[in-house]
Amino acid sequence: MRLLIVEDDDRVAAALSAVLGRHGFDIVRARTAARALDLMHTRPDLVLLDLGLPDRDGFEVCNRIRKVSNTPVIMVTARAELSARIHGLYLGADDYIVKPYDLRELIARIHAVVRRSRPDPLAPAEGDPVPSATGAGGKNAASAAGGGAGPAGGTGAVGRVVETRGLRIRLDSREVTAPDGRTVALTRKEFDLLAELARAPGVVFRREQLISEVWGSSVQSASRTLEVHVASLRAKLGDPCVVQTVRGVGYRLAAAGAPAPPAALPAPGAEYVPPDARHPRAGEPAAGDAVARGELAAAAAKRRRRT
Ligand code: CA
Repeated sequence: MRLLIVEDDDRVAAALSAVLGRHGFDIVRARTAARALDLMHTRPDLVLLDLGLPDRDGFEVCNRIRKVSNTPVIMVTARAELSARIHGLYLGADDYIVKPYDLRELIARIHAVVRRSRPDPLAPAEGDPVPSATGAGGKNAASAAGGGAGPAGGTGAVGRVVETRGLRIRLDSREVTAPDGRTVALTRKEFDLLAELARAPGVVFRREQLISEVWGSSVQSASRTLEVHVASLRAKLGDPCVVQTVRGVGYRLAAAGAPAPPAALPAPGAEYVPPDARHPRAGEPAAGDAVARGELAAAAAKRRRRT
């Protein structure tokens, strides 16, 4: 997969290229907006676009890319402001990630965005068992984000079903079946939220992203609404672990194909701590690691001074 990295900072670009290269990506790099637009001729599969560029604003680059191409764009921004991110999504970015970010999250987002941009591979042949969908397609949400990378022509999404933890989510008929076979009655927004998470089971969606996709732009007031909807979804689905909280980031649907819950469920409202948060994989640098190590060292030094 070819990745165009648009980044003016040589150190950041080198580090990114090294890690992404190890993950099998073919890297093309542009230092400026002008060069990035030139390099669109190389037909990258995805553009990783830094917003702060020396010659032009990344927003303008995104806008120009959208005029000529449906190539997925992930904006990389140090601007934590919500308005900037929403602006980027409306301009046609498919996703955004805020610096400093965790590289594992970036890689997961790259895969999720590319998967959604591909034509749906899940038109099952007659007689086939219903496949365990991985959220490919995702037209409804992608179009809300500017419609940039929707699947070409993509009407082949009939019968899309996501299955996880014994739960069956029929995205087209908007029906949800619990592990015990009962139909779960959800409100429109509850289903929209579940469907948004089901675009990419196992991938974390930021709170702001969910709010903007499900409730539109009234973001500040919707934060509490999101929590209320997550709680009622968990209660109605009868499985608190199907929608998982990732602390400080957002939520995700249990990975597709995850086994049904055991008879003894965790206490309702119990927060799920993902395994990768507990044990970062060796050799996978996490952006937070250096900070955490620094804080630990500082705290240790403080203790030593006191004693
Ligand atoms: Ca920059």
